[in-house]
Amino acid sequence: MNIDFAKNGGLVPAVIQDAVTEKVLMLGYMNEESLLKTQAEGIVTFYSRSKQRLWTKGETSGNFLKVQQVLLDCDEDTLLIKVNPVGPVCHTGADTCFDEKNSGKAAFLNYLKHVIRSRREQPAESSYTASLFKKGINKVAQKVGEEAVELVIEAKDNNSELFKGEAADLLFHFLVLLEQKQIDLDEVIDVLQQRHRK
Ligand code: AMP
Ligand code: ZN
Ligand code: ZN
Ligand code: ZN
Repeated sequence: MNIDFAKNGGLVPAVIQDAVTEKVLMLGYMNEESLLKTQAEGIVTFYSRSKQRLWTKGETSGNFLKVQQVLLDCDEDTLLIKVNPVGPVCHTGADTCFDEKNSGKAAFLNYLKHVIRSRREQPAESSYTASLFKKGINKVAQKVGEEAVELVIEAKDNNSELFKGEAADLLFHFLVLLEQKQIDLDEVIDVLQQRHRK
């Protein structure tokens, strides 16, 4: 990481993004010391302009930001830090300092993927998703087939609410099948992107 802090008066902006929901969470500033501390600890520490000192986000609230990935912009004067937040990020108690819906709807699939993964790893008695995993791969695959057929049936009708419901059923069970197969949604998207390049 080759940032010329001197160029920016010692501080660079750091955009903080949720690694799972892809929401933009907040913006802070970092000096070289805070970036080194952030990378060493795996927890975000800013330089607070109002406090005029290093500020570890969560130092009083406990709502730390666990670092997943640190990225630089094109001309290496702005940071993008992907994090797993321990709790709400905004001092108002909201998840994000920006609008809740700032991530784009499709990012919800990535969040749902993580929820489904946690149902497999920590199955709860009351969880429908956990019960699917318990039934095994053949049953899950069959369920995907059934939902696909239901979607086909609704495609022939004119009820868009029912069609959307079946489309959602198919997407959900598709994600469950990927998790059952230990294939990440990103790997499927990689295939789509490779085809797109051709
Ligand atoms: P925390 O770092 O979460 O323990 O919060 C300590 C103090 O930092 C709060 O009392 C706020 O003044 C400030 N603060 C916390 N979160 C934010 C935020 N997302 N944006 C700006 N200031 C914040
Ligand atoms: Zn830049
Ligand atoms: Zn805020
Ligand atoms: Zn259905």
